[in-house]
Amino acid sequence: MDLNPEACYRALLARDERHDGRFFTCVTTTRIYCRPVCPARPPKQENCLFVPSAAAAQELGFRPCLRCRPEKAPESWTGGAATTVNRALRSIEEGTLDLGNVADLAEQVGVGDRQLRRLFQQELGASPLAVAQTRRVLLALQLLQQTDLSMIDVALASGFQSVRRFNETFQKLYDRPPGELRRQRRRAAVQSSALTLLLPYRRPYDWEAMLRFLSERAIRGMEHVADGVYSRTIELDGAAGTLQVADAPEESALKATIEFPQLRSLPQIIARVRAMFDLNADIGAITTALSQDPVLAPLVAARPGLRVPGAWDRFELTVRAILGQHISVKGARFIAETLVAYFGAQSLKTENQALSLLFPPPARWQREEIERFRMTKARAAAIAHLAALVNGDPRYFEQLGRQASAVDQLQALPGIGQWTAQYVAMRALRASDAFPAADVGLQRALAVDGVRPTEKQLLAQAENWRPWRAYAAMHLWTSDALARPSRSRKRIAHATAT
Ligand SMILES: [Zn+2]
Repeated sequence: MDLNPEACYRALLARDERHDGRFFTCVTTTRIYCRPVCPARPPKQENCLFVPSAAAAQELGFRPCLRCRPEKAPESWTGGAATTVNRALRSIEEGTLDLGNVADLAEQVGVGDRQLRRLFQQELGASPLAVAQTRRVLLALQLLQQTDLSMIDVALASGFQSVRRFNETFQKLYDRPPGELRRQRRRAAVQSSALTLLLPYRRPYDWEAMLRFLSERAIRGMEHVADGVYSRTIELDGAAGTLQVADAPEESALKATIEFPQLRSLPQIIARVRAMFDLNADIGAITTALSQDPVLAPLVAARPGLRVPGAWDRFELTVRAILGQHISVKGARFIAETLVAYFGAQSLKTENQALSLLFPPPARWQREEIERFRMTKARAAAIAHLAALVNGDPRYFEQLGRQASAVDQLQALPGIGQWTAQYVAMRALRASDAFPAADVGLQRALAVDGVRPTEKQLLAQAENWRPWRAYAAMHLWTSDALARPSRSRKRIAHATAT
């Protein structure tokens, strides 16, 4: 990535938030690196070195500024989630390089070791290992600042393999132990095992639309939406907990409250929440591209911060997509609720009474059992087949998500057609160009004088929307939903009004 020093310096003088996260300023006299929005007095231009990522700054030996706090910069992955670098970044977020090596990572995303390093150098100006290391340091800094976790717990929760490594890394970076970087915090009056973290996004973020989308699909007992907060039960590596997410617009972040017994799962939980709420979207680039289209321009202007809602768990989302084939959102929710109430495991005791069930694990989805629930044999077979696949290989979706041919592979599964594969790619695999053209809602949203386009016509029209067809679909669905007020919409409006 080429950065123009003059343009960067102008952005720095203007403290222009549009550039936040797009470059970092390394100050050669202080060996500190800053965000373009840093409130400190601007350095002289001859002392500035501009780099495209925090990892690049750290690899050059600069340390994060304690005033502007690089961990608070929004991320945005250019080119959408399907590019090789972004699939690798997702894998790093999930902790691949905390234990494995770059060769493993390269193999996962289907390129050679040297090719991956070259791509990282090109886009981020840093090696994959530096990116992983920087993520750990920035997460640890955030935990030191935003929580009361002990040093051992901070090391564990930010992905360091030992407290010694954690201490060494901070000593090297800051010339002092990590404890000295802890802000004096007032202890919370009530001891709680929950952690609350701010996860930054690039403004604008349409939280209302995100919440409405999730609310219309929320499964009772497992998910809950009230007072502008989305909550759900979560399960990971055999442990269970809860997640609560709310908007914190004054911080340009979502506020995630995580209650989970295994601290070492935290990086993975954060990665999942970031994907679920589409926090890596390069929203400016998406808006600019889609605004070129006469049909989408007014929709994008009305909702410039619209994101593509993702999924907590890819298996769960795929089962829910299969249940939703050819029926309404409401119908799909009803059947999902019935099945979760019947097969769902009881979650551990949680403070939130509305959250008592976990989504049933793959082993629970036996064909003969689910056939009894108002379902065609084909659909029951599709779910049972998928469940057996994931039961035999719990990392099936993780690996699928890192492959460019994911949609084709999904479509090769029994009972998964074009619509389902594209929908799963869009929501669970974060494929920004996925587009379920067979969707009735999309066709309805584009009807002219009551005449809906065919799937083929829709696909032709959508060529203009590449590589952001998933965002185009969200804009169309949102406008279609708003044009057809339903009972559930009124109820949500009421719930968020307080
Ligand atoms: Zn700074």
